[in-house]
Amino acid sequence: MAEVWTIAETHNGSLKEVSFELLARGRALADELEVPLASVVLASHTREGELERLAAYGADIIYVAEDERFASFTVHSHAAVLLPLVRDHGPQIILAAATTTGRTLLPYLAVKLGCGLTADCTSLAIEEGTGNLLQIRPAIGGNIMATIKSPDHRPQMATSRPRSTPLGNMDTTRRATVIRVDPPSLSTDPVEVLGVRPFRDQQTSIEDARTVVSGGKGLKKRENFTLIEQLATALGGEVGASRDAVDRGWATYPHQVGLSGKTISPELYIAIGISGAIQHLAGIKTAKRIVVINNDDEANILDIADVAIIGDLFAIIPVLLRRLNERRKTQ
Ligand SMILES: Cc1cc2nc3c(=O)[nH]c(=O)nc-3n(C[C@H](O)[C@H](O)[C@H](O)COP(=O)(O)OP(=O)(O)OC[C@H]3O[C@@H](n4cnc5c(N)ncnc54)[C@H](O)[C@@H]3O)c2cc1C
Repeated sequence: MAEVWTIAETHNGSLKEVSFELLARGRALADELEVPLASVVLASHTREGELERLAAYGADIIYVAEDERFASFTVHSHAAVLLPLVRDHGPQIILAAATTTGRTLLPYLAVKLGCGLTADCTSLAIEEGTGNLLQIRPAIGGNIMATIKSPDHRPQMATSRPRSTPLGNMDTTRRATVIRVDPPSLSTDPVEVLGVRPFRDQQTSIEDARTVVSGGKGLKKRENFTLIEQLATALGGEVGASRDAVDRGWATYPHQVGLSGKTISPELYIAIGISGAIQHLAGIKTAKRIVVINNDDEANILDIADVAIIGDLFAIIPVLLRRLNERRKTQ
């Protein structure tokens, strides 16, 4: 009955959304294998009700280690708890988020445990017959989907892109067994955290926005990109961009949507002058509604559009801005 584990992430005692996304993935795998699903929380403290939320989203077991040293992530302090925990309990699968934390922690654990790791998975499944974890992710520039497995080593480890899967159903009647873990003393941590400063561009997070308006090469030049910014502002949303637009310096990298940028799941995604290359589409698979403005009625992006406006963006955006402006005045 080797368990499936997810590594939760916290900030100031609250669980980050990605912790629940991992549970959605982990729950499906644990159900298939008919084994318990556990979530591991390493935090300086956890706010009241947070552990119950993990249970509500599918955790059967919650391992919690609380210690002031976890206020900031360092790989050694986390590994000092996780390595003995993994060795004692022998989970068959460990999932973490493909965030800075997950991408730093899991390779370290994989090396120490002598097992494999697939980074940045967009899909996970259980192989029929063997029960091996199928770790699926884009490869070769996003042109193929590769399925990777590690049949000879346990635990099988993978990181999953934030926002690449919807949350599971919340059931507040679900209960989990909470197991408190004493963090072992760490004589020396080679990393000393001197302070934490938020990244300058963090206030414009397209990952958290309900509406994202993205522009691509169809905008033709930097000055025209202001049309995207104006439309995003008029709709109360954030600005996104294709890689082409970012490479040309029309938007900065934190705004890039796609395989080598951000995966987002806004309520509304508006793609303007973007052709819909496979690498761009990889970032918007979980967007709820997609509106496209493009003058090519055979553009790839039309395949996934809920609404498509075929025409010249330079004629269409000013009309949309005018209408939105008129509507604001009458409200
Ligand atoms: C390893 C790798 C990773 C990558 N990662 C990403 C990624 O994360 N994100 C990403 O976006 N790309 C990524 N790419 C690049 C991707 O393959 C495409 O090159 C890129 O997405 C194209 O950007 P675009 O749609 O803006 O430009 P184009 O493909 O040139 O499309 C421009 C579109 O604008 C339309 N258009 C032109 N003029 C007008 C007009 N006046 N009115 C309306 N429509 C107009 C055109 O019809 C066309 O559809 C990656 C590529 C590789 C190899």
